[in-house]
Amino acid sequence: MTVVAISKQKGLDVERVRADFPVLNQKISGHPLVYLDNGASTQKPSHVIDTIKYFYEHDNSNVHRGIHTLSQRATDRFEGARKTVQHFINAESEAEIIFTSGTTESINLVAHSFVRSSFAAGDEVLISAMEHHSNIVPWQLLEQQIGLKLKVIPINDKGELIYEEFEKLLSEKTKLLAITQLSNALGTITPLKKMIDAAHAVGAKVLVDGAQAIAHAEVDVQALDCDFYAFSGHKIFSPTGVGVLYGKRALLDAMPPYKGGGDMIKVVSFSGTEFNELPYKFEAGTPNIAGVVGLAAGLDYVSEIGINVIAEYEHELLEYATEKMLAIEGLRIIGTAAEKASIISFEIDGIHASDLGTLLDSQGVAIRVGHHCAMPVMEFFGVSATTRASLAFYNNKADIDALVAAVNKAVSMLR
Ligand code: PLP
Repeated sequence: MTVVAISKQKGLDVERVRADFPVLNQKISGHPLVYLDNGASTQKPSHVIDTIKYFYEHDNSNVHRGIHTLSQRATDRFEGARKTVQHFINAESEAEIIFTSGTTESINLVAHSFVRSSFAAGDEVLISAMEHHSNIVPWQLLEQQIGLKLKVIPINDKGELIYEEFEKLLSEKTKLLAITQLSNALGTITPLKKMIDAAHAVGAKVLVDGAQAIAHAEVDVQALDCDFYAFSGHKIFSPTGVGVLYGKRALLDAMPPYKGGGDMIKVVSFSGTEFNELPYKFEAGTPNIAGVVGLAAGLDYVSEIGINVIAEYEHELLEYATEKMLAIEGLRIIGTAAEKASIISFEIDGIHASDLGTLLDSQGVAIRVGHHCAMPVMEFFGVSATTRASLAFYNNKADIDALVAAVNKAVSMLR
């Protein structure tokens, strides 16, 4: 890998980082691409693209199945990737790393294996009012199916979780706290460690939705002491269709399989089937092998630069962007938490978000408009949609300036 984009003393060399992302080097409608939709999905560095290409050209085969050379190579790369993930999030053991198709599947795995098998009617699951739909709907389904009770921690006008309300909702009935680390709609960072400790104090387990946080903050699952941690590859410069569920070994061991099929068994017989050990018990069927290999390449790339270097750079860029955006007449930022990262959601007086989004695209600026799969957040702030600029470490001040210029131009056309 040729990542030379940093000097630990000097911080991040964003121009060198940008050169690692070929997709950024193009024009849209005659304008240089300004990619500010990283909350939806991130771009991939050449290292990830080349690793996947190399895999398909040299090592492609199924895993855990054959004695031939390619199958062994594919298996080595797949299991090597598991170790990479283990180290990236500092899990105690690689057996605690389950490959899934993404955060959504990881959360559903916890819902349909852990919760469905061990919760009773009336047991409570606590979430916050700023969750992504993928950390709301699985619990609503279980409300209908097994009678669990979903309770929602409210947020304030800045989009911060109201900690005192969380404490009031916590009780011995709380069996699971399922909470985002970083809100995709608002950019709010939740006080995770404090919440995990408080949930544990009443005997609840904690599932962290790390879909957004994983690319912007250091994650140490042992230091956090969370019971489950879910994230997606595509949010961290890696392929789509691959993700991770981390779970504490004792919990995963006690949980029943979530899907049945090949690879998750030791012996199958009509008189009874014996399941495989961890982590394979939860990985039925042929996995996204090239995706997993690509994920390891993406995590290696981030590690090489240093997640703390990235976080510091993005923090400065967010401050710059916030100041510039607030200077636009009639613009209101939705989500102004004291602890915030990487996201600016906003609305502009009298202008519909989708009209704005279309005009920004015609100037080469890619942002997202809509409810961001967080409709309750939109309801809370009394809007049907916001325009969202979400940053990554390959964005620079010129991107922000281009966004501001494009918004100003769009506003002058729409008013
Ligand atoms: N949770 C959060 C906070 C998200 O931002 C997203 C995706 O935007 C998800 C969960 C779902 O991730 P995926 O669609 O990759 O499963």
